[in-house]
Amino acid sequence: MNILLIEDEARILSFLARGLEAEGYSVESAGDGRLGLALAVARTWDLVVLDLLLPSMSGLDVLAELHRRRPDLPVLILSARSDLQTKLRGFELGASDYVQKPVALDELLARVRVQLRRREPVDGGLICCGRLELDVERRQARIGAAVCELSDREFRLLRHLVDHAGKVISRERLLADVWGYTFDPGSNVVDVCIRRLRKKLGPDAPIETVRHAGYRLAA
Ligand code: CA
Repeated sequence: MNILLIEDEARILSFLARGLEAEGYSVESAGDGRLGLALAVARTWDLVVLDLLLPSMSGLDVLAELHRRRPDLPVLILSARSDLQTKLRGFELGASDYVQKPVALDELLARVRVQLRRREPVDGGLICCGRLELDVERRQARIGAAVCELSDREFRLLRHLVDHAGKVISRERLLADVWGYTFDPGSNVVDVCIRRLRKKLGPDAPIETVRHAGYRLAA
């Protein structure tokens, strides 16, 4: 699960990041509003934790724009502002939850879990896409009777394609979302990983190469 923290106070940021990482979440951060928004829309996240008083762009403006562009992405506001008007405005603009600072880490973690639970697949941890089934807990993929054990990276890559089934995803996007690279490392890691996946999934692998564009999972 990938969480983006948009928070300008270094002390709070490192406290939150450490707490979330200790729970096994993958955490990245941005220290101002504009950067935070850019990062939020550029990559795939499971949750954004958003401060309101931020340099360059206010949290509420970030929220409004983010909700317009990524309406399904849950945003948890974490702010020292306690007035009802601000809270209601936050919910109006699309916030999923509003937590007041200072907050005990345990409470924040509980609220984060609630948001992420809503993102998890309901069918016993199985994500289905045509004949392909992904077992989230076992990190396995199944096509018909064939069961493949996947590495963490292979699983995340395949899951990303499944989440965007039918759409072409560029190598750059996959590098950013699955590997966390915001630059091209000048290697063919994506292609190599796709090749491994195809080999494991066998001749029925529904991964298509779209020339000069990227990869697509046949929906
Ligand atoms: Ca702040």
